[in-house]
Amino acid sequence: METKLIDGSALAARTRAKLRERIQGLVARGCTPGLAVVIVGDDPASKTYVRNKVRACIETGLRSEHIELPASIPEAELLARIAALNADPGVHGILVQLPLPKHISAERVIQAIAPEKDVDGFHPTNVGLLATGHPRFAPCTPAGVLVMLEDAGVNAWAKHAVILGASNIVGKPMALLLLAKGATVTLCNSKTPDLSVHTRMADIVVAAVGRPGLVRGDMLKPGAVVIDIGINRTAEGRLVGDVDTASVMGIASRVTPVPGGVGPMTVTMLLANTVLAAEATLAPRQ
Ligand code: NAP
Repeated sequence: METKLIDGSALAARTRAKLRERIQGLVARGCTPGLAVVIVGDDPASKTYVRNKVRACIETGLRSEHIELPASIPEAELLARIAALNADPGVHGILVQLPLPKHISAERVIQAIAPEKDVDGFHPTNVGLLATGHPRFAPCTPAGVLVMLEDAGVNAWAKHAVILGASNIVGKPMALLLLAKGATVTLCNSKTPDLSVHTRMADIVVAAVGRPGLVRGDMLKPGAVVIDIGINRTAEGRLVGDVDTASVMGIASRVTPVPGGVGPMTVTMLLANTVLAAEATLAPRQ
């Protein structure tokens, strides 16, 4: 069987071109969508992620506010900064880059973001809306995966999707989104005794663990669609996912590469959620 690569970079470029048109429409109505990106401390990986997000905003025509705060900032001060962003009408989306320093509760910080500006989709109100089948802002990574599946012509309806990894920001919302699309979903975690028992029955496998080589070709049903969300750095400094791509070639029908797969779509969905947030502040056209 020929295994096709799902090109996340190309889809991201097409999606951003469509977003650009919506942004131009908003600007013409006097509303430039604005995203505030808050980073606390100087974790190098977080800094890279934030730089990419800010660059993507600018390239797509969004206004981006980049707020760098010292790792020593007291939690109360960070919460006050978020309250000010909540009240700022020029800011439509607020993102606080995780992880946060140990003395700050990520839970309290997420809950401090106004749900209508929570473009990461992590606030309990938005998690609840997603869980009850009425998503406002779906978390960006799983939302991007859904767009990739649709674009590749993969209909999740009545399919068996097996998700490896059950975090609040990736695995769990991925399960809810696929469930809403009519899939039968199995959600595995670190306690699952034998992943292959589940993956061998899957039409769609989503790997979101952070362990290179976790998914091999011999764990798949022929023709399965494999989505690789994992991001891992090898000892040689190479970026790889959770899927042993070489061994799935010829067995899977489709697979996402790393890099150039889910990553570019994650940032794109952040832009899309910010555009949605800005659109929601305007009265509907007459
Ligand atoms: P996380 O918070 O560390 O969660 C990892 C999940 O994997 C947990 O639910 C954990 O189970 C589970 N797990 C650990 N070992 C396992 C095993 N052997 N078998 C099955 N499940 C196992 O990580 P995350 O934030 O969800 O991120 C997961 C990966 O995706 C990372 O590599 C991250 O870098 C990547 N990522 C990529 C993007 C992107 O844009 N491409 C975005 C976000 C994250 P327990 O619940 O039992 O602990």
